[in-house]
Amino acid sequence: MNWEPVIGLEIHVQLKTRTKMFCRCANSFGGGPNTQTCPVCLAFPGALPVANKRAVEECIKLGLALECEIADRAVFHRKNYFYPDLPKAYQISQYDEPLCSNGKLAVPTADGEIVIGITRAHLEEDAAKNVHVAASGRLHGATATLVDFNRGGTPLVEIVTEPDLHDADTAKRFLQLLRQTVVELDLSDAELEKGSMRFDVNVSVRPAGSNELRTRTELKNMNSFNFAAKGIEREIARQIRIYEEGGTVEQETLHFDPTQEDSPPSRSKEEAQDYRYFPDPDLVPVHPPAELVEKLQREIGELPGARIKRIADTLSFYDADVLVTGGLDKLWSDVVAAGADAKEAANVLSNQFVAAGIAPDAVNAGELAKLVAARSEIPRAAFDEALAKVGDAGFTAAPYLAQKVVADTGELDPIIDKIIEANPGQAEQFRSGKDGLLGFFVGQVMKETGGKADPRVVNERVRAKLGA
Ligand SMILES: [Zn+2]
Repeated sequence: MNWEPVIGLEIHVQLKTRTKMFCRCANSFGGGPNTQTCPVCLAFPGALPVANKRAVEECIKLGLALECEIADRAVFHRKNYFYPDLPKAYQISQYDEPLCSNGKLAVPTADGEIVIGITRAHLEEDAAKNVHVAASGRLHGATATLVDFNRGGTPLVEIVTEPDLHDADTAKRFLQLLRQTVVELDLSDAELEKGSMRFDVNVSVRPAGSNELRTRTELKNMNSFNFAAKGIEREIARQIRIYEEGGTVEQETLHFDPTQEDSPPSRSKEEAQDYRYFPDPDLVPVHPPAELVEKLQREIGELPGARIKRIADTLSFYDADVLVTGGLDKLWSDVVAAGADAKEAANVLSNQFVAAGIAPDAVNAGELAKLVAARSEIPRAAFDEALAKVGDAGFTAAPYLAQKVVADTGELDPIIDKIIEANPGQAEQFRSGKDGLLGFFVGQVMKETGGKADPRVVNERVRAKLGA
């Protein structure tokens, strides 16, 4: 039997507002434990929350970027559960009246776009951070657990997708595109290693061609795109194995550990009713004015997914993807506008430029365009040196453009002859078919000429002389 995986994602993105979601404490990373707290976020009796206007605006902006409908009225609910990182014993979240709903994000791929439905994007507060005192840093084997309330009450947007994903690779691409979108909109650092973006993955499988939704399992709190892809693949294989052996999949939350063979269950999954949601009587409903929504919409420029799609019309999908995900597409457009060939500019940027680790913003596109255009006419060594310095203040291409490659056979032939004479063994092997030795001869010529020989001419002449 053929099986079709069905995957949905829940992503939490920590907004980088100046203050927390419902109090004036600083929303920042790295302060000493419990230094960024107040009666509101520590849940002292009688302390009242006030919603952070900026966080509301940022959630709306993200919702607009995801083509969501923005609610006329959104309500904060209390989601009740008991855990040491939650001093109120409820989390303020949104339930049946979220700020943003019914959106989509189109993921460009080599075979066209895959459109993933966005069920909702809503605002909530984060829980505090539990620090387990143990060598492993995990709850298992810990001798104590400490709670740092600095993170408690910081603003999160939770984004929930429709179960529209059917393979691990597209799920990974979706997450990467969402991350870039959030970062470009300047809403969050979305740094996975800091936990300012993290995600839960729901996985089920069904017979291919069927529309049923079977029991799903959840992989919680993943903070690496690769681990998410690996966890999804492993879970798909596990569920297929269970069904093929005649078993049933249990609804459960699994803890994914990439160093372990399987994903052990952690705790049983609560149902929505277990949280006893009800509207928070301390907070008024949010009514975003139409003018505000329009203003936020105008602030959104062309998003990364759309740019990949547009550039892929000129270059290949692969090139477009590398440029946009690498944050190089703006510089690429400028360099092309300044006269460089589109494909040549993409090659230089996505290879040598990236390798040189230069900040794109520092580069004078006009000077880089001159270098790209002259790439085959100047010696490789000069080109590499110029590229390494292209981000320096006041860089000009002129001194490098003045250096020309040696393409004159009258000058190159005697050098090539000398090298062939000095290496009779290699010459013999090359003649008898060991084609890989061409690189050896070209390398010797380049060395002899101080990197100034035109490698294409040298290639041609070595082949002609060795009769290959
Ligand atoms: Zn506070």
